[in-house]
Amino acid sequence: METILVLLHNDADGALPKAALEAVAAGARISGELGAEGFTVGLIGHALQPAIDGLATCGALRFVAADAPEFGQSRYATDAAAAEAVARHVGATVIVAPMTSRFARVLPGVADRLGGCVDTHATGFGVADGALGVTRWFYRQRMEGTLRRTERPWMVLIDPGACPAWSGAGGHASAEVITVPCGPSLTRTTVTGIEAPAAEQQTIRPDADLLFVAGAGWTKKQADGLPHPAEAEAYILDFLKKSRASLGGSKSLVDLSGEGQPILRFMTHLNQIGQTGASPRHPKGLATCCHGEEPHVVGWRFVTERRAVNLDPNCGWGRGKADVLYVADAFAVMKHVNDLLADGQ
Ligand SMILES: Cc1cc2nc3c(=O)[nH]c(=O)nc-3n(C[C@H](O)[C@H](O)[C@H](O)COP(=O)(O)OP(=O)(O)OC[C@H]3O[C@@H](n4cnc5c(N)ncnc54)[C@H](O)[C@@H]3O)c2cc1C
Repeated sequence: METILVLLHNDADGALPKAALEAVAAGARISGELGAEGFTVGLIGHALQPAIDGLATCGALRFVAADAPEFGQSRYATDAAAAEAVARHVGATVIVAPMTSRFARVLPGVADRLGGCVDTHATGFGVADGALGVTRWFYRQRMEGTLRRTERPWMVLIDPGACPAWSGAGGHASAEVITVPCGPSLTRTTVTGIEAPAAEQQTIRPDADLLFVAGAGWTKKQADGLPHPAEAEAYILDFLKKSRASLGGSKSLVDLSGEGQPILRFMTHLNQIGQTGASPRHPKGLATCCHGEEPHVVGWRFVTERRAVNLDPNCGWGRGKADVLYVADAFAVMKHVNDLLADGQ
């Protein structure tokens, strides 16, 4: 019989990230499908009680918390000590955790300390013949594989967006708070702050509801016979600022930017969506000035609702790849959308 631990951390503001609620739902499902007695939720952080109360009705058998000021910030040494202590306390054989940057950094090392194994970027799971199988993609999302392992504990980090998030009523729950020794050698690294690009420069936002894709059409000659890169840049940045959407690009566009041309300077290869780019998991996507060729659209496979704006009714999107195609000038459309957003509509 497996002993299942769902391992979570809270964020600096005390709340659980959405990916944590997805891991809770995954843990509950795995536990049900394996016929286990139930699952334990383990939490790492500081001032965890509101997060524990928020999960009061999630179906966990018990809560185990490593709750101390030292765990209030992401730091490898203290996070690893806390995760190891929680896993040992629970005697977990299967550990499900969200693939947040904090856990992605630390949990593989913890799996090693526990003498177990780890799989990252899991996107699904299922039980066959009483054994747990975990699904992940290989070769840049071209092949999907299912892994079964006999080593224990088995740590599985689930990609954000791969499972629906648990939602339910809060309440009051009590946790067993464990003491994790944190000597000076663990706390000698102090996090003094976070240096991150300004919000408008930070264009990749995996948690955004909308993926906004810009294609090379934004840089092409328009009806007046001239390209308008400055206008394109202004419309796109204005839209991203107002909508908080995540920015993707077609390969043609990011390649142009990489050549140092004075167009869409915020666009890098990290924004590229497609066969040789990323396959993000946003609920909605809007492609603009992008033709919708197969090597690009394959990166949209996890985007639930797809819309596109293109002057060409015969573009790839119009041939069954989008739910809605607006045959229109994206410059005019985005100007209008930005005006509506400015009016708070
Ligand atoms: C092995 C391989 C791997 C590849 N991997 C990828 C990948 O990962 N990602 C990727 O994106 N591509 C990839 N490609 C390239 C892909 O096939 C396309 O060449 C690329 O996606 C085209 O980019 P685009 O649609 O932005 O540009 P274009 O094909 O130039 O299309 C521009 C579009 O903009 C429209 N347009 C112009 N002006 C306006 C306007 N004012 N309003 C509205 N619409 C307008 C035009 O009608 C046109 O449809 C790959 C190709 C190969 C061979």
